[in-house]
Amino acid sequence: MAKIYTVDDYNSNVLKGKTIAVIGYGSQGHAQAQNLHDNGYDVIVGLREGSSTFAQVKEDGLKALPIKEACEKADYIHVLIPDEHHGTVYEESIAPTLDSSKTLVVSHGFSLLYELITPPADVDVFLAAPKGPGHLVRRMYKQGKGVPGLVAVGQDSSGTCLDKALAYSFGIGTLPAGVVETTIKEETETDLFGEQAVLCGGTVELIKAGFETLVEAGYQPEIAYYECLHELKLIVDLINEGGFEQMRYSISDTAEYGDYVSGPRIIGDASKQAMKDVLADIQSGKFAKAWIKENKEGRPYFTNKRQAEKDQLIETVGKELRSKMEWNK
Ligand code: NDP
Ligand code: MG
Repeated sequence: MAKIYTVDDYNSNVLKGKTIAVIGYGSQGHAQAQNLHDNGYDVIVGLREGSSTFAQVKEDGLKALPIKEACEKADYIHVLIPDEHHGTVYEESIAPTLDSSKTLVVSHGFSLLYELITPPADVDVFLAAPKGPGHLVRRMYKQGKGVPGLVAVGQDSSGTCLDKALAYSFGIGTLPAGVVETTIKEETETDLFGEQAVLCGGTVELIKAGFETLVEAGYQPEIAYYECLHELKLIVDLINEGGFEQMRYSISDTAEYGDYVSGPRIIGDASKQAMKDVLADIQSGKFAKAWIKENKEGRPYFTNKRQAEKDQLIETVGKELRSKMEWNK
């Protein structure tokens, strides 16, 4: 079973008097920097030269400096910019400032596992990651709650890296909700698999296939949208609160019978095999290699695909229907 840490497991002295540079102020950066600041830590936000985000950081009451200057002043350097940019920013602005007194922090292991970053052996490296989107990380903290998190020791040169990671997890607001210990490899591979096979890729294609099946059979797109997309959230909320059992308690027995007999016809052996293939590509580094190459070439596939996805019927129908929902405006 996994080792799960709580607020009883951290030492508040570990981060006392330390300066933390949070590099990037996007989804995770703004949330984690502000949580660390509100927990009493000395935070400097590191931004690229000329970034329009300097004004936002100031408005939020935090200090901001160009990335290299922030790293020079910091004991902890937390890289919170998109993973595909870690390599370049690390080489240009972070690596030149590193010495054995510094600790490098990430919230996703992609750049470490696939070696976009190779920190010197005498630098402590750990992962501290909230299991939730940045805006929720901030909102839950402000409500006096937290989102659960992960920690992984990447490189333990000091012999105290786990203590640092746990104190840090308190700082970013994950420890009060429970923090599970993992490894850089496990976090990266499971995170990529989850978003590709189930959460993003798998779910979107399931919704699209259901919607298209109904529309191609002559049913109205609006009805197909409600049936295959809108109601999904209501079902997932029930599963999230009380597992499959609570969801099945809420639906009709007809729906439950259909769930048992038809579900495995939709996601059967072929889908399971496809999931295994996706996992194999993640484990071999094939997926990471393709994504890094795509970025180097200026994202031709990604840009076209993003546009094509925006133009499809389920999106235009959905936009129209959501505009009728008062609370969505
Ligand atoms: P964002 O895309 O929200 O990061 C945007 C920030 O990165 C901005 O401040 C932007 O600068 C800066 N930035 C972008 N490109 C560069 C560059 N080339 N050089 C310097 N700064 C740059 O990222 P996320 O918050 O989504 O992700 C950050 C990390 O957190 C990643 O490692 C990700 O895997 C991880 N993570 C993300 C989660 C999420 O919910 N999004 C969940 C868990 C982990 P500017 O302000 O100047 O535009
Ligand atoms: Mg994820």
